[in-house]
Amino acid sequence: MASANAIMQTDETLLCCSCQKSFLFSVHEKQIHFQKGYQNKPKRCPACRKKRMNGEDSIADSMTDRDLLLEMGKVVGEMRIFVEKEIRSLSTDVQELQRIVQAQSKSGKEPS
Ligand SMILES: [Zn+2]
Repeated sequence: MASANAIMQTDETLLCCSCQKSFLFSVHEKQIHFQKGYQNKPKRCPACRKKRMNGEDSIADSMTDRDLLLEMGKVVGEMRIFVEKEIRSLSTDVQELQRIVQAQSKSGKEPS
């Protein structure tokens, strides 16, 4: 309880996820913020929040989305390379098996 109160009574410096600048999350702002029912600390500085409300921050936001997609694409690409390698080794196994089966069926069909 005491630690929660301590957090509530201390000014904090947070990093804006939009412009990467640090901003003050003051005790006064905290009180308003948590009174509004927000559970988490604000992600954006007041300027970016204002911009975002006005819809001016859409470019910066799509940039972070794009970065996220690029990151995901990288992972998917790595997974694809791995899967393709597996499929290749699997298909060689299958080809080898087919050759064995064909050879066996051929020898089986041959009149003795
Ligand atoms: Zn900002």
